[in-house]
Amino acid sequence: MSDTDCIFCQIIAGEIPTDMVVETETIVAFRDIAPHAPTHVLVVPRQHLADITDLAAAAPDVLAELIDVAQRIADDECDGQFRLIFNTGPRVGQSVFHVHGHVIGGADLGWSPA
Ligand code: AMP
Repeated sequence: MSDTDCIFCQIIAGEIPTDMVVETETIVAFRDIAPHAPTHVLVVPRQHLADITDLAAAAPDVLAELIDVAQRIADDECDGQFRLIFNTGPRVGQSVFHVHGHVIGGADLGWSPA
């Protein structure tokens, strides 16, 4: 269920300090170490799965809870409005292979696909 080489598993285990925002039985959310917006929180299932497609297949209820946690963070920090990004694969920027949604908000972001 967890991978000792995975940095997010180490954060979940309390082995690496983090700025934790939400903890539930199945989900943790902590601030990104290199934020791209006033709110930039990573929402992460405790279970080690590589990406959102694996999560959707293995535990769709946890994916639904992850989205609910993202909404709660946005409600608290940015008027309920947020962008939720799941980089899926190294060519599009995934660097940590433990599924996580980036909750981005708190600014007028506009839209740029790249
Ligand atoms: P991705 O590139 O989509 O896989 O996102 C990984 C994110 O994890 C990046 O935005 C990093 O800034 C962030 N990150 C890496 N290490 C840590 C850490 N120790 N604490 C918080 N965020 C981290």
